[in-house]
Amino acid sequence: MAENVEFNALESNSNAVMAVADTVRTTLGPKGLDKLLVDQTMNRHVSNDGVTILLSLKAIHPVARMIVEIAERQEQLVGDGTTTAVVMSAEMIKEGKRLIKELAVHPTKVVEGIDSGVRHACSLLEQEARQIAIDDSVLEQVVRTSLASKLDGERLAGLVLSALRAVGENARFNGGKYDFNKSIMVIRKTSMEDQVINGVVLERGRMDPELPLEVSKAKIMITRLDLKPVKEAWMKENNKYQEILLMENDRIKKSKEAVDAMLSTGANVILIASPEVDPAVEDMLVAKRVFAARISSEEIEHLCRYIGAKPVRVMEDLGRPDILGSAERVSEDEENNLIRLEGGSGRNIVTMIVSGTTKETSLERWRAAIDGVNAAEAALNTGIVPGGGAAELHVMEKVKALRLKGLEQVGLEVVTTALESIMRQILTNAGFNGLEKVMAAKASPPGYGIDINSGEPADMWKMGVVDPLMVKTTALQSAGEIAKSVLRIDRNLAAEDLSQQAFSESKR
Ligand code: ADP
Ligand code: MG
Repeated sequence: MAENVEFNALESNSNAVMAVADTVRTTLGPKGLDKLLVDQTMNRHVSNDGVTILLSLKAIHPVARMIVEIAERQEQLVGDGTTTAVVMSAEMIKEGKRLIKELAVHPTKVVEGIDSGVRHACSLLEQEARQIAIDDSVLEQVVRTSLASKLDGERLAGLVLSALRAVGENARFNGGKYDFNKSIMVIRKTSMEDQVINGVVLERGRMDPELPLEVSKAKIMITRLDLKPVKEAWMKENNKYQEILLMENDRIKKSKEAVDAMLSTGANVILIASPEVDPAVEDMLVAKRVFAARISSEEIEHLCRYIGAKPVRVMEDLGRPDILGSAERVSEDEENNLIRLEGGSGRNIVTMIVSGTTKETSLERWRAAIDGVNAAEAALNTGIVPGGGAAELHVMEKVKALRLKGLEQVGLEVVTTALESIMRQILTNAGFNGLEKVMAAKASPPGYGIDINSGEPADMWKMGVVDPLMVKTTALQSAGEIAKSVLRIDRNLAAEDLSQQAFSESKR
């Protein structure tokens, strides 16, 4: 069977995957090291974050690019566990290649084995998982574990926790799932201290320095009305003085009508998301001394939710009773060029401000803070399992005990090797003999891993080293998908043109 399989592609593809996986492997776990990224113009960035490192790699082998894609997928689906996914997929490919080359197992059998292995491992992990609530102290351990390997992780964990606690049950949406994307905003500011602000923060100042700095008991309108200026070109084309004057008067009149109509609703804060605004409108708002600021269209949704407003799209909307939202206070922090909205009457939102002495550290800390929030979300929604590779290790024993028919059984080994690799890598990165320590952990009860400082077996639950279930299952599934695609390729061929268009033409 295996004679038909050409090994060269497999060999070169798997080498490419290993090379890329090796660049992030050593960042895994609390003692993982950082990478210095340098570009052509000597810009540099230090990172410990798998997906960040992978995405900045230059000119990589097309198959290795698939590894970058799983990191991205993991990032999108859970937002943490990217290195875990990469390490597992590399391990699957390595072991799969061995089976195909050395034992002459046909790739389709290996692929089937991977499929059942991943499915079984995920359902076993699900059985191990414990459910947690937002006020459980174990939530703190989830966040600390997720941030253990990050720059300044301890302090960030504290910040993330206070944001989580501040927003609490308000972060539950449809069907009771937590969605912190909707309720915790994370912004980075090198000029400020780390802090959690109960409310929404806009990263800009108000429209004009003449406007009030603060409004309490704010009645807020969010508008997308068409406030476009009359095109100048239009005026230039028209050289009759009388007509220009008419048009100019018309412009002023229309602007005044728009501003009057907006203010007649009782609004004392106007947030403008219209793409263009006539200077005449701005001038009139300044003259009326209402607090006005520009916002982007992406900000409309969460602002509306926070203050309980409906965006105004057309003049007719102004007559509706439910358009205005309200907040206890809207104010500008001139020093930091920020606008804060606090005490909104809609659903609560908190903003985490993440500092950093340089742009580079603030970026890395900002990413880490988001990882922490994502880990908490995954833990609250799907439960937690023991960390440090312990959950994977003990599930592995059960996967090994499965009896599948024929050669599929061999494919299972691909998955068990991958499950074992996480603990081994974390411990190797901590300076131990990974394999030896994994053996010691295997001989210990379920939930046991290795204490990263002493090197002795320890109960990961008791040590507070816990991971969200979903980080593990998603990583395993994505790793399996990529391993399957790589192992099924028997040849790499040079093609003429695979751009979307050329491809669809040839299909017809
Ligand atoms: P990823 O990109 O996969 O999230 P990390 O570098 O964040 O990679 O490492 C996550 C892994 O580190 C998880 O398996 C987690 O359980 C483990 N880990 C965190 N803290 C500890 C600890 N104190 N002891 C052992 N393992 C830990
Ligand atoms: Mg992590």
